[in-house]
Amino acid sequence: MTQLPPNESVYFDAEYETMPREQIAELQLELLLETIAYAYEHSPLIRETWQAAKVTPRDVATFDDFYEKVPFISKDAVRDFRDGRGDPYGGLLCVPTDELTAIMSTSGTTGDPTLVAEKWGGGSVGRPAIMYRDFWGMGVRPGDFFSLFLFTFRGPTYGFVQSLGGIPLLFDYDLMEIERLLRLSCEYRPTAMYNFGGTMILATADIAERAGIDPRDAFSSYKGMVWAGEPLGARARALADEWGMPLFEHSSVGDVTASFECSMHNGMHFWEDTVLVEGIDPEAVDHRDAQAITRDGERCELVATALTNRVAPLIRYRSDDIVRLARTPCACGRTHARIWTIGRKGDEVIVAGRSVLPIDVWSAVESLEPCRLGLFQVIRAQREVDVLRLRVGYQDTPSARLGALADEVAGAVLAKVGVTPEVQLVPNAELLRLGPPHKIPRVTKR
Ligand SMILES: [Zn+2]
Repeated sequence: MTQLPPNESVYFDAEYETMPREQIAELQLELLLETIAYAYEHSPLIRETWQAAKVTPRDVATFDDFYEKVPFISKDAVRDFRDGRGDPYGGLLCVPTDELTAIMSTSGTTGDPTLVAEKWGGGSVGRPAIMYRDFWGMGVRPGDFFSLFLFTFRGPTYGFVQSLGGIPLLFDYDLMEIERLLRLSCEYRPTAMYNFGGTMILATADIAERAGIDPRDAFSSYKGMVWAGEPLGARARALADEWGMPLFEHSSVGDVTASFECSMHNGMHFWEDTVLVEGIDPEAVDHRDAQAITRDGERCELVATALTNRVAPLIRYRSDDIVRLARTPCACGRTHARIWTIGRKGDEVIVAGRSVLPIDVWSAVESLEPCRLGLFQVIRAQREVDVLRLRVGYQDTPSARLGALADEVAGAVLAKVGVTPEVQLVPNAELLRLGPPHKIPRVTKR
């Protein structure tokens, strides 16, 4: 059983959450040395990558040794190992498969889904951190009902709620479930929700109206409603404000751990006793020329190393995620670093010399009523193109109006981004079939 703090405690683990940074670093070094020895011994991908770079765990005694000598692991390296060797775990699994408790996968937004092998109880070292500290900080306490709106991550998530003394209410991440969510929320009055994205918020408006339920009432008991994955558009944000939803952003940290906003809503904390995070210059070729970016708030590419995972730890995993990091203490009293996500390195498109990221196109698309779900894709065969091509989702529009709608979308994008796009309109339902539930790849080759 997980040891729980007294209900009135602000922190789940006051000692660790507010630990001085020098002490965090000491703890990290100890865990890092233990993890690399373990991974080198048990993970074929890590061992082969290190052997190719002519380094062993015996060559690493300090953070400087680690940064100087240890090669990165890329997403492609994991996929290549998986496909080339027929190993579904990409050469990362460190335990016999009969010790596993479950297999989850990532949602696969930017490629085929990656397997996440789980071993509940004994799969990690260290103290409970991710989700425990975050939801406790939002005010969730034992005995509370907890709405779980889940797709590819399931088991460990409701196991966590139970360890926290909460009672999970289970939903599938599906538009069809929203009415049931609204009804059960009125009945059980949950305090926490994980996880409800922009598409779901937008769809709730119509569904609640048809069902005759006031979202303000249904959501009134929540202390924390977590959303993740894609930026919330202005329209979803406005609805959430209108309904009084206490939103908290959440993001993956290089597939190694996750981060959550605290009550300050100024960046997402990740727990540094579970992960070593580096920010590097995104243009780096490999670890030998990677410049560390240590200044708070500067754009960098995130590199993550698992410190407590003993099932399939990633070491110096190069995430392709462009982020900002801050290591200064937060007003909430926690000393662990914060992260702001910006986009994926692979999502940038240069249109006639101008850099465009999906986030730049977003508000223009969703400003038009038929395109209010903000579903669109940037189509580009290579990074540099002459014309910005967009595939944009719409609803409730007769076909005779589509030509005019395409012109309106083009005009809105021009006003926002400064280039005139070529717009292809596709019904929302068709576009949603291109991705995992209610989330689509924002950049595509075709
Ligand atoms: Zn904070």
